[in-house]
Amino acid sequence: MPLRAAIRTIPDYPKQGILFRDITTLLGDARAFRKAVDDLVQPFAGAKIEKIAGIEARGFILGGAMAHQLSAGFIPIRKKGKLPHKTVSIAYELEYGTDEMEMHVDAVQPGERVVLVDDLIATGGTATGAIRLLKKLGAEVVAACFVIDLPDLGGARKIEALGVPVRALVAFE
Ligand code: IMP
Repeated sequence: MPLRAAIRTIPDYPKQGILFRDITTLLGDARAFRKAVDDLVQPFAGAKIEKIAGIEARGFILGGAMAHQLSAGFIPIRKKGKLPHKTVSIAYELEYGTDEMEMHVDAVQPGERVVLVDDLIATGGTATGAIRLLKKLGAEVVAACFVIDLPDLGGARKIEALGVPVRALVAFE
């Protein structure tokens, strides 16, 4: 089954007029989940990737599997107030207003090669915040990967303008 067919679309969630792309159906399908992770890591086979950084919460599921497959470490990028040790934080733009995300100060060493992952890129506000946070600690952000891109919202272009290549497995117009 193609990955696209394994993704469920929920109309009017979380509010009227929004088409929510739900990857829980993909994650629950053993073959689709394996294929998604295989496709996400494929460009990095043989590349020296030290860490995968996953954005809370669905980026953790994909990123943990990618890290295992690439023999890399995993960095959780979390919403404010969830991490127990000393953190660095950054404000990022949401559709309406701003929020903050954090990572541990010692989660990455300067010069480490990191791949960022999340389930979906829309406006790119979330991924831009995560990249800025990783760069604050001196990481080399090698790429940003997503299962889904919504190209009409321009997020991938925004990330590429930061000098970070973007890879997405499925696009929904
Ligand atoms: P952006 O910051 O506008 O690029 O939005 C991306 C963030 O919102 C990611 O962390 C996604 O998990 C979440 N998101 C936005 N729309 C959807 C959707 O349709 N399905 C799943 N997650 C979404």
